[in-house]
Amino acid sequence: MQSVQNRRRWLASVASLLGAAPAAGQVSATSSSYVNPRKVLLWESTRKEFREAIEGGTLKAVIVPTGSTEQHNEHLAMINDTASVTLVAQQAALLLHPQVMVATPVAVGISPHWMDRKGTLTLKKETFLAVVHDICESLVAHGVKNILVLNGHGGNVRPLREAVPGWAKEFGINVATNSYWDAYSREIINKNMESGVAPGHAAEFETSFAMAAFPERIHWEGVDYAKAKPGLGIKDPKSAVQDEQFAKEARLASTAKGEAMIDIAVKWTAERVRTLIREGK
Ligand SMILES: [Zn+2]
Repeated sequence: MQSVQNRRRWLASVASLLGAAPAAGQVSATSSSYVNPRKVLLWESTRKEFREAIEGGTLKAVIVPTGSTEQHNEHLAMINDTASVTLVAQQAALLLHPQVMVATPVAVGISPHWMDRKGTLTLKKETFLAVVHDICESLVAHGVKNILVLNGHGGNVRPLREAVPGWAKEFGINVATNSYWDAYSREIINKNMESGVAPGHAAEFETSFAMAAFPERIHWEGVDYAKAKPGLGIKDPKSAVQDEQFAKEARLASTAKGEAMIDIAVKWTAERVRTLIREGK
């Protein structure tokens, strides 16, 4: 396991790749002495690099991250799920470098249930699945034999589970899907989360993850839930209660909890991809 300092450096570089400015005190990607993360990112690689990796037989699998752009209560950035799943995918790919790369993340997911909270973007199920399908089909066309669609947003789970087995048959290769939180047993959640909830939504888990991985995406300044509540306009009463509950639970978050949960997800995902490669053709 790399040192905490090295991981911080790497995490900072991930944040900058996703378009967020590194927080004060974090170093830029260019000063990273760790394995260059560009090497595991398809979208940052050249065609030469990708071609040589696939034709030379070193590249065995690609992870396709799927996330969302949706409301994350009053304090987290809306890119949270996409940023989280991409980070887990990248860390896992680095553990398996040079065998694994990460494809361009799908940054908008299926989020109609959050449309009463302003800012959420959503795709129709068919649109979302068509995009993920076509990304996988592109990879297959270039000779990729093992694909893990790694999900980071609750609304995408069921559609992916229903569709992906059919794609494996259609393409004649190994395609599987998991959400990165499949790594978390009840025991792990109880041990690490005071609220006993993970992943939840913008609560203790996701806020801890953000504190460890990209604190610059947390904005507590000016947040006053009680004041905002009457104007939120949440239609479903159950959802309104949960929204308030999650806002409270978010205050339980800590960097240490986030780091522990990220490590578990990264190792689990790496093992999942290792198994795919082993089973693959
Ligand atoms: Zn989320």
